Amino acid sequence: MAVLAGRRRVRARVEGVVQGVGFRPFVYRIARELGLAGWVRNDERGVLVEVEGDSAAVDAFLARLEADAPPLAAVERVTPSERLTTGEPSFRILDSARGGEPDALVAPDTATCADCLAELRDPGDRRHRYPFINCTNCGPRFTIVRDVPYDRARTTMAAFIMCDACRREYEDPADRRFHAQPNACPDCGPSLRLVGAGGAVLGLRDEALRAAAAALADGGAVVAVKGLGGFHLACRADDEDAVAALRARKHREDKPFALMVSSAEGAGRLVALGGAERRLLEGPDRPIVLAPRHDGAPVARAVAPGCAELGVMLPYSPLHHLLLDDAGVPLVMTSGNVSDEPIVYEDDDALARLAAVADLFLLHDRPIQTRTDDSVLRVVRGRPLALRRSRGQVPRSQALPVAARRPLLACGAELKSTFCVARGARAWVGPHVGDLANWETLRSFRDGIAHFERLFAVTPEVVAHDLHPSYLSTAYALERGDLVPVGVQHHHGHLAACLAEHAETAPAVGAVFDGTGYGTDGTVWGGELLVGDLVGFERVGHLRAVRMPGGEQAIRQPWRMACAWLQDAGVRAPALARRVGAERWAAVAQLARGALAAPLTSSMGRLFDAVGALCLGRLEVTFEGQAAVELEAAAATAPGARGAYPLPLTADLVLDPRPTIAAATADVAAGRPAGVIAARFHHAVARATAQACARAAEGAGVSTVVLSGGVFQNRLLAEETAALLGAARLRVLLPERLPPNDGGIAFGQAAVAAARLAARAG
Ligand SMILES: [Zn+2]
Ligand SMILES: [Zn+2]
Repeated sequence: MAVLAGRRRVRARVEGVVQGVGFRPFVYRIARELGLAGWVRNDERGVLVEVEGDSAAVDAFLARLEADAPPLAAVERVTPSERLTTGEPSFRILDSARGGEPDALVAPDTATCADCLAELRDPGDRRHRYPFINCTNCGPRFTIVRDVPYDRARTTMAAFIMCDACRREYEDPADRRFHAQPNACPDCGPSLRLVGAGGAVLGLRDEALRAAAAALADGGAVVAVKGLGGFHLACRADDEDAVAALRARKHREDKPFALMVSSAEGAGRLVALGGAERRLLEGPDRPIVLAPRHDGAPVARAVAPGCAELGVMLPYSPLHHLLLDDAGVPLVMTSGNVSDEPIVYEDDDALARLAAVADLFLLHDRPIQTRTDDSVLRVVRGRPLALRRSRGQVPRSQALPVAARRPLLACGAELKSTFCVARGARAWVGPHVGDLANWETLRSFRDGIAHFERLFAVTPEVVAHDLHPSYLSTAYALERGDLVPVGVQHHHGHLAACLAEHAETAPAVGAVFDGTGYGTDGTVWGGELLVGDLVGFERVGHLRAVRMPGGEQAIRQPWRMACAWLQDAGVRAPALARRVGAERWAAVAQLARGALAAPLTSSMGRLFDAVGALCLGRLEVTFEGQAAVELEAAAATAPGARGAYPLPLTADLVLDPRPTIAAATADVAAGRPAGVIAARFHHAVARATAQACARAAEGAGVSTVVLSGGVFQNRLLAEETAALLGAARLRVLLPERLPPNDGGIAFGQAAVAAARLAARAG
């Protein structure tokens, strides 16, 4: 039989985020438009398509696969190959294939799209006020996925049987809900119920929603609301009593609460939003964005005591939209947990653990597979800087600049813990897990790793871990049987994470400032000047080390660090000593002189603590880095403050803050405003850091500087240091998608392990 002139058949393998994002109906549509026959289906690696027809139409099809992909798709690669024509008459969508190695990328959860929002608010629509409306362009993804390929049967929607109307949408390639796995309606999908603290059901469906909104709006109630990745605790943001009650019941003394506001305009009335903040706020991943609070913003003081900024987010699920519409006021929406426990995500657990916190529980019957907190970021130098990377970001893959020759797992640090699995050039960083100190977080960490290994078909052969021998993540890594361990120094992990995120493999100077990290010499590092690349590093300078009187206790009581630095500088601060109590002060000063119960530390975070205690009189903190946050907030009140305290640099690149401490103490004694003292201290650290980096860069013959570590969450410090380095013609890299704090460590460890494997293989 003669082959028709110009007729061809091509198979194309499409990789990237192409499942659960309306990719197959899109393929179906363009194939039909171009008059092509063939088929498309999901499989473990993404989407596989074959088209047959006119040769020019096939070329046009291949071009449009990438160019016109649907909004939530992220096509990483299209690999076409010629096939023999079969004379197939039409184009079809086939069922998913299973078997082999899954490599399809699960999409993150995505905010309700404009089309669904319009239907939600349309009284004539069959999903009017239906809190679980979604389509192929929006809705839950990662938080409901149990396994791949991404199909309804392998999500937490499996138990809901679609009604005829939903089924028709689901099966119609021309419909916006074609193969929308969480597709549902009031007749067949999940539904709400409102439960009292005693467990009594107080309302169902829309009645539950309206009652919850009314209790929030006028009752001063605290309501536990089940969302996409876990529970929130909600109350009116402008109600001082409700917020104070929430704070007391949650045992959270000072850590700021996030707010949910119905629109960007509404958010703009509470905080100053620049263009970048606004774009992030309205983006499909809907993070919490930190922005400067307006004076007189109608927000209770107890929402964010001592902070110059508020964390705001927009509604991202239909339930949130309805709740905000009905309540008519901005709401506190903070993680549903008590103290530092991980966010609650199961109904029974919520009713048990949040019983003493919430007055009401707004529950629904769609299970959450993976607990996922809200992501948090702020804008620094006009770019996003992640503080917590979770919902909306996870499980987006992150490229490794040096591909992993063997599949690997990286276990991260201890606080703000995350993990990372990697295969080839791709790494997947897990959601924020939190402080590994308690059993519940450790379980979450272990389960999360197992889930990611299955979802992304990573069977690790190598495990990267922190050098700290008593981190639970290190213990877990070493427990993992016959995996080859790769120890990565903490601050090298920070440096590598930032280099890898920016696809940089050449050596750079890294100023890595944080609270605590285990140094190669056994002391506590945290004010480090490194020169290194992904494979290794050299410590070329650091903050002068002092004793940390009482070890860990000095983290909770910053006055101990002030005492140590004052002693080192030979300076007295009688007012502070009096506040602490003469005897206690003398005992701690004694500790600061000797090695007993007082490890040496070069931590920049601890220096910020010391200055926070000196200038703000902050004696105790309830979360790590609190003194630094307050110091930055104070500095923001004195934007024009001139002068920097002296912070000299020795010949061997040691930053010596003794004169800084002396000058700050003198200003405190002279009654200078705290804002001015805080600003002068920030200027001093920025200048000394820029100078030290410039000298290190010259010495090593490199021109790139990385600023990372938790201390660089401080916008004032990061921007001023970066500007000075830029003026010195150095290229500055700051973390963006991965946090500068320990939430970025796992990715850095993975990048180091991959680079070392490649270097060893030569
Ligand atoms: Zn939608
Ligand atoms: Zn239905």
